[in-house]
Amino acid sequence: MEEVSVLHMSSGDGESSYANNSSSHEIVIRKSLQVLVDTIEATANHDIFFNECFKIADLGCSSGKNTLSITFAIVDMIHKTCSKYNRRTPQFQVYLNDLFGNDFNNIFKLLPNFYANLKKEKGEDFSPCFVSAVPGSFYDRIFPDKSLHLVYSSSSIHWLSQVPEGLENNKSNIYMAKTSPPNVFQAYKNQYYTDFTKFLQLRSKEIVCGGGMVLTFNCRSRANPTSDDCCSAWELLAIVLVDMVKEGLIPQTKLNSFNIPFYSPCEEEVMNVIENEGSFFLDKLSDFQVNWDPHDTDYASLNDSVELSDAHGETYAKVKRAVVEPMLASHFGSSIIEMVFKKYAKYVSEHLVRSKTRSFNIVISLTRK
Ligand code: SAH
Repeated sequence: MEEVSVLHMSSGDGESSYANNSSSHEIVIRKSLQVLVDTIEATANHDIFFNECFKIADLGCSSGKNTLSITFAIVDMIHKTCSKYNRRTPQFQVYLNDLFGNDFNNIFKLLPNFYANLKKEKGEDFSPCFVSAVPGSFYDRIFPDKSLHLVYSSSSIHWLSQVPEGLENNKSNIYMAKTSPPNVFQAYKNQYYTDFTKFLQLRSKEIVCGGGMVLTFNCRSRANPTSDDCCSAWELLAIVLVDMVKEGLIPQTKLNSFNIPFYSPCEEEVMNVIENEGSFFLDKLSDFQVNWDPHDTDYASLNDSVELSDAHGETYAKVKRAVVEPMLASHFGSSIIEMVFKKYAKYVSEHLVRSKTRSFNIVISLTRK
């Protein structure tokens, strides 16, 4: 399970940190806000909503401005819902969860500002909000029985608990790819079914009956696991690594043993797991696309001009780097990182000239039965 311990995003607030390269994740969060509002409204029908303390968990919170901005948004939504129903706003307990290697200190430094903003916007007498960190894997129990009212998770549960077993013949591929043998697709799918089922089982113990859960994650547009939105970003990274093997910078055996613990399910797979696990009602499922480069507004034309694509390639390479640098550095050593992402930016821009690919995302709202 080496991968889980190195799965955290790039730490700190430097140029290649997750904190500075999370704007596409921010778009995903923004697109999930209406579903959150609807889920909170639905929760308002249950008495639990008006408990003394409303307990919220953000699973896979990472560290950066997204972390506390979504916390702020949820607190604000609950406050507005209470006002609408003429109820007193409860106190808030917010648990920020991520893996042990996450840069929680970076979040803690942003907390004074968060509390000050809450007071500024809501007034000195606003219900207290207590934020704390809960390090650990969401594939384990991380909260006591029936202790949560609302669980949120954005861009996190597409990460698996481990690299699936039996990928030895995936050779130079690092994820499901057009040239992967059939057992590779099956191994990834099996790992996803196991992990997402376990995730739901664990949360079903931790969330009170009637409590809600809103999850956003990468998915793929079609059942075919080699669709462009599913695989091409990883295929381009694999091409970079193959180049580095050819240049003698990494051994082929090292590349053969590297696979990403990630899965982008199709909608049918998501629904199957929820139905088979059985603890949650699926209230809402919708999908949306996000441009690889969040600043790329030029998706009207099907292909990029070369000039524009260079900039888009560089931005997307930074986004990817913030997410996978710790994993790559741990497996191949940190000396290759600069070159990997320089090459990756080039391949991404060339790809965007040929085809303007977007990532596909899903947002679901669940209620604990
Ligand atoms: N929610 C944030 C961060 C998304 S990045 C946002 O939307 O901007 C994904 C995060 O999920 C990373 O910080 C990673 O460390 C975390 N993560 C991945 N697997 C995890 C696991 N098993 N348990 C807890 N966190 C996990």
